[in-house]
Amino acid sequence: MHVQTVTGPVSLDQLGRTLMHEHLFIAFPGAEFDPAAAFDRPAFVAEAVRRLRQLRTEHGVRTFVDPCPIELGRDAALMKEIAEKSEMNVVCTTGFYFEEMGLPVYWRARTVEEIAELYIREISHGIGSTGVKAGAIKAATGAPVITPLEHKFLEAACIAQRATGVPIITHTQDGQAGPDQQEAFAKGGVPAHRCLIGHCCGNADPAYHRRIVDGGSYIGFDRIGILRFQPDEVRADNLVRLVRSGHRAQIMMSQDRHCGWLGKFPRQLSTEEQARIDALRAEGKWPPPYTYLFTDFVPMLKERGLSDHEIDAILHDNPRRFFAGEQLPLVNES
Ligand SMILES: [Zn+2]
Repeated sequence: MHVQTVTGPVSLDQLGRTLMHEHLFIAFPGAEFDPAAAFDRPAFVAEAVRRLRQLRTEHGVRTFVDPCPIELGRDAALMKEIAEKSEMNVVCTTGFYFEEMGLPVYWRARTVEEIAELYIREISHGIGSTGVKAGAIKAATGAPVITPLEHKFLEAACIAQRATGVPIITHTQDGQAGPDQQEAFAKGGVPAHRCLIGHCCGNADPAYHRRIVDGGSYIGFDRIGILRFQPDEVRADNLVRLVRSGHRAQIMMSQDRHCGWLGKFPRQLSTEEQARIDALRAEGKWPPPYTYLFTDFVPMLKERGLSDHEIDAILHDNPRRFFAGEQLPLVNES
């Protein structure tokens, strides 16, 4: 049993502390045509390597999962170079984004089988001619409901999951439609514990979180630090609530951050947002660091009574069990 990283297979024991949803580089379709969108590849690689090394040496992170959708500038060769130089396990995914912000026209026209074939090829054979294999499947849906087109891509993800055995990591929009994703995966024959329902921390309602964990999936508190979507106090309260109700084994913590972005944002920023970003950039703090989870959020969890042991179990044991495909513990100790 091994996990496929961009530099080759590693054993489950080598995964160690894992961040399940981060990004290295993102480019929204079309950004490459913007003359103002410069990308200095060597400088980017150096900065990414510095940030991953810092995560490894200061916070013991050994594995970095980058579920970048295919059409959001996923660059397998770039990931491989950064993984090699930083000595970090980097796992990439196959799979497209959601309808409102992705799904290339060409692939919208393909059948479920044709999409699944692409996914399976990227997992079993490799991405393009890079030789880099995907270690998981990305699936994404919008809000408030899953569109018919998104359902087609979810179905393809299910076929690829069953054929290859790798897990599924999802994007939900604004912490909505997670239970609908679970339903689609169940219908497609994918066991709930092979799915990580992403971005659930964007929903403040504990009842929503209960539905996800009661459905038997992993639950993503994976936008920690993105305060535009949710204050971290709410995330910390809800995360601790799940631990105390016996669902520690299903929680995944991550930040959905990136360290390189091509061009501008895929929406207009307000003057205040732009000013805040410019100020952070001037201080060398933009994009914000991957270490935030450890420096700022973990202390919030400790204030709320979580122990080092409980935090480490979330960061270490849960990703290992997820990739291994092991059943969840029947009674989760808390
Ligand atoms: Zn993401």
